[in-house]
Amino acid sequence: MTDCIFCRIVAGDIPCAKVYEDEKVLAFLDINPLMPGHTLLIPKKHAETLFDMSPEEAAACGAALQKVAAAVFKGLDAEGLNVLQNNYEISGQEIFHVHFHLMPRKTGDGFKVPWPAKKYGPGEMESVLQKILKAF
Ligand code: AMP
Ligand code: ZN
Repeated sequence: MTDCIFCRIVAGDIPCAKVYEDEKVLAFLDINPLMPGHTLLIPKKHAETLFDMSPEEAAACGAALQKVAAAVFKGLDAEGLNVLQNNYEISGQEIFHVHFHLMPRKTGDGFKVPWPAKKYGPGEMESVLQKILKAF
């Protein structure tokens, strides 16, 4: 897709700071990082969200994710690492070519993922579980 910025990076029309490449996957530094080493990992084949990828592309991303995360973690001398993947606008997706954020973490980096945990009401957990199980 020529109107997709990440497809243009894959095609070499837009430069990137390449971290990793194989037959199906590309990883490069985020241009507006939350911290140094913030890396994006994408399938080379265009897919808008996680749900639009083939199982083969998803598996290739999963395998590369572990490899690239390990290098980012080690190379940046990190103490932790977050993986974040946004699907659809409501979740914060801005670029509609599926991508995984790899974010190396250090004490005092100032990055905090809001985590407003809630409690299930009576019987709610079981009914939620059934909704998911029926959707496979
Ligand atoms: P998301 O909000 O999950 O869609 O994240 C999109 C990410 O892509 C943002 O963190 C941007 O900084 C990043 N981004 C946008 N354009 C480029 C680019 N040309 N090279 C590298 N990263 C980019
Ligand atoms: Zn694309």
